[in-house]
Amino acid sequence: MKKLIAISGPAGVGKGTLVQMLTERNEDIVASVSCTTRAPREGEIDGVHYFFLTKEAFLQKIGEDGFLEYDKHFDNYYGTPKDFVFETLQSKNVILEIEVNGVMAVKEKYPSLLTIMVVPPSLEALKNRLIGRNSETEETLQKRLARVEYELSFRDRYDEVVVNDDLEQAYSKLLKIIRSEITIRR
Ligand code: 5GP
Repeated sequence: MKKLIAISGPAGVGKGTLVQMLTERNEDIVASVSCTTRAPREGEIDGVHYFFLTKEAFLQKIGEDGFLEYDKHFDNYYGTPKDFVFETLQSKNVILEIEVNGVMAVKEKYPSLLTIMVVPPSLEALKNRLIGRNSETEETLQKRLARVEYELSFRDRYDEVVVNDDLEQAYSKLLKIIRSEITIRR
């Protein structure tokens, strides 16, 4: 079994970009594909970005104990499929890019999970970036800003915290953390 790694961080912090860099530049690291009931955004492909499920299909999979963890987030369900993760872990290190509650749930079941939180250099800068995106209603924006603080309040419960000030530097730090863990366990 290879290493299971969780990377979280508030919206807009750049964790998606960092995970993409990790998987594109390292053949032995792949990102898990979660299931969700939310609608695909433009350009998102079923089975690549998410497995898009109906609510009925998602609830059925919960009943079959098919998730490592799942959570309801902004009115949609998100979950990490057990089968995908464990099949992939046979040959590759797997990154879960999931929010804080999901990470805590997986950590409880699998204490060897490596948990890393990506944080912004300043909370103000991140908030301004989210406000600047301007693609949301005021209510959604307020919910997202509250969520940023909620996610960051978990930082002390993570094994490692990486500040995303400079993207390449944050990438190097992430890779170093992951590589040292993989070497130790070998
Ligand atoms: P989005 O809808 O923007 O793709 O994702 C919204 C949030 O759901 C993000 O914080 C993301 O990390 C989280 N998320 C994505 N997949 C999962 C999952 O499988 N489980 C949990 N708990 N959260 C997830």
